[in-house]
Amino acid sequence: MRSRPHLFILGAGATKATIPNGDKYGRQSPVMENFMQEIGIDGLLDGVKLKTKSNNIEAIYSELASKPEYTDVVRKIEDGIVNHYRKMQIPDKPTLYDCLILSLRSKDCIATFNWDPLLIQAYNRVNKITRDLPQMLFLHSCVEVGVCEDCKHFEPYHNRFCSECGKPLVSPRLLYPVKNKDYSQNVYIQDAWYRLQYYLEKACIVTIWGYSAPESDKKAKQMMLKAFSSDYRPLDQIEVIDIATEDVLYKTWQPFAKNTNYHLNIYRSLIESLIGEFPRRSIEGYVKRNIEGWWDSSTLKLKECKTFDELALLMKPLIENESQNNYNVI
Ligand SMILES: [Zn+2]
Repeated sequence: MRSRPHLFILGAGATKATIPNGDKYGRQSPVMENFMQEIGIDGLLDGVKLKTKSNNIEAIYSELASKPEYTDVVRKIEDGIVNHYRKMQIPDKPTLYDCLILSLRSKDCIATFNWDPLLIQAYNRVNKITRDLPQMLFLHSCVEVGVCEDCKHFEPYHNRFCSECGKPLVSPRLLYPVKNKDYSQNVYIQDAWYRLQYYLEKACIVTIWGYSAPESDKKAKQMMLKAFSSDYRPLDQIEVIDIATEDVLYKTWQPFAKNTNYHLNIYRSLIESLIGEFPRRSIEGYVKRNIEGWWDSSTLKLKECKTFDELALLMKPLIENESQNNYNVI
């Protein structure tokens, strides 16, 4: 049980919570509504005849992508989106993404629907504290993912060349917001979904952070539910971290909770969730408390750190124990 993975699934709300005041230069992570205005590419729609009156990027993009005469506009919108996200820079101080990555281990996984590069940027600095870090899956691809078409190895796109064979890295096309998304659009996205399926089947805890499962992701939600429901798992746990009302969240995630005998907890922030109390030991802490009946609490909890030295110092006792193969809760 203890060696089972902890799976995190991230949506737009996770990036919002990570950079509440924007990125390093105050650049915001746009939401679907008013998306084109927010990233300053709404001028591309001048002279374009749209049936939709909506300002939502999904409605606009879906309509344009279905009309061959707008192929060029669609390509420009895609370029605008990629350019916007490529410019995003994680703030210098430790963020919630740094805390999240450092609070999981290589048996665990973070799967994200977000296109922004912040998670990879955070990974690239916390890996100086430990190399035992979670797997990452980009379910709609990501502007900072670079793939070597030759050895299928992937790494940050800004490295430009494959560190295994030296060939130029390519950036897999993002999965853009159309109603009927094709998850087999490219090998990279298809592979991410296969791997997500594995983690959904095996995970002891699944934490969904800031992902609202919008109507347009209906197929994604069905695929996730199918994999998660492959077994009755009454000892497992679902956590939802979100600021939406509890009614809405229960309604969205209840179908998943059926399989865990309704073990569904809702939190307002990352720190309140299980990794907040048991960083790098979430499954161990959960099993100890809920299955073995432990009544005490962890002495090493996640907290806001102003510097990376402080964050490294906080995690040090856990990482030192790991080098001795000791994964106990402390
Ligand atoms: Zn290569």
